[in-house]
Amino acid sequence: MDCLFCKIINREIPADIVYEDEQVLAFNDIDPKAPTHMLVIPKKHIPTLNDIAEEDLALVGRLPYVAANLARDKGFAEDGFRVVMNCNEDGGQTVYHIHMHVMGGRRFTWPAG
Ligand code: C5P
Repeated sequence: MDCLFCKIINREIPADIVYEDEQVLAFNDIDPKAPTHMLVIPKKHIPTLNDIAEEDLALVGRLPYVAANLARDKGFAEDGFRVVMNCNEDGGQTVYHIHMHVMGGRRFTWPAG
């Protein structure tokens, strides 16, 4: 499958992996937008948020759970952090394998640009 994140999961292209279990993988974003910027992805290929099926709910629920654990490990869970999931073109999605951005280490503004 010609999916960048599937290739990272399969170790066909390198990534700075920070967490892995049987269902999800997390790695540092190659172009960080915060002092710490990680991506948490399901190992199952789900292209967009629009493609999540009922059977995926436990898997997708694991993304914020792992995100919060990583934030705690990195030491910014208490101060706070930002998670983002972009969907399709207007949402700013560029890689079509769902992923949760986890950003911390600075203060974020709202609304998003
Ligand atoms: O939400 P969006 O689809 O735009 O996010 C994709 C993210 O994947 C970007 O933040 C980009 O920097 C990251 N990326 C990466 N490693 C790659 C290719 C893209 O971390 N090899």
